[in-house]
Amino acid sequence: MRASDGEHHLAGAERLVAGEEVAEVTAGLARRALNAAGGESVEIVCNIEKVDTADIHYATLPCLHPYNVKDYHEGRQLAKRLLEETGVANNVATEALNMLTAGPGPNKTVMRGAVILDVHMGERMERNPARGVRVTRMDLTAECHAKQSEVLAKAGLKHRRVIEALTLSGKVLSCPGIVAELCWSDDPEYTAGYVASPAKGYRRISELKPAGQAIGGRIFFVDFGNVELSEVVNYLEKKSVLFNQPGRVFPETIWSPEDA
Ligand code: AMP
Repeated sequence: MRASDGEHHLAGAERLVAGEEVAEVTAGLARRALNAAGGESVEIVCNIEKVDTADIHYATLPCLHPYNVKDYHEGRQLAKRLLEETGVANNVATEALNMLTAGPGPNKTVMRGAVILDVHMGERMERNPARGVRVTRMDLTAECHAKQSEVLAKAGLKHRRVIEALTLSGKVLSCPGIVAELCWSDDPEYTAGYVASPAKGYRRISELKPAGQAIGGRIFFVDFGNVELSEVVNYLEKKSVLFNQPGRVFPETIWSPEDA
């Protein structure tokens, strides 16, 4: 589902469910879009596609490391450090942070999907800079959802956005060629974000933007050494990934720029 006011993206969500759940889940997504619009006029697009159960890849969610920072300035310093640790060059990491700060879409707007960045050249590869690439066809089994929700709640991370972002990122990290992901929300009230990588998992940063700011986005850093763009896009948009095992949630790290 994706919803907009005709101009701006308001809400989006992806599900992967059994046939008998489709009607109920679709109604829930429509309700969510209407709530996001807060009574304003809204355009809702719900697209339902049939997937072959034999093609579903079952996986474990990434582990989550929460980092607590004083403010978004520190958060962005940490994000840069974590990106560099995964192999993103200093100038490419700086460029990526500037891109999300400004608004990655045309005329500094929010995109409907994600930027794909060549991790070596720092070049944007997505064909449509307004749409980007939308990751779809991923979800958690009911049992995995219950278990993951419980561990997240114990860690004080009950917000619906945490489990949804962890799911999206879990699929991204399983994609061939992915080196890292950087994200912060376009929801003005939600200031947390993350840097994720296949080796280090999902590292949540408590502050990555100032409250009240409606600019955010996602950047996928890809090493195109052994993979074609079409393969990456096809995986992100078409491969069905269902998480049936929760990821571990580590204790919070209080971080400051003086830390090594
Ligand atoms: P959100 O975390 O929902 O606030 O989304 C933040 C940004 O991530 C959005 O502005 C989009 O640019 C991007 N995004 C949201 N959903 C997806 C998705 N399914 N696939 C790729 N990018 C997405």
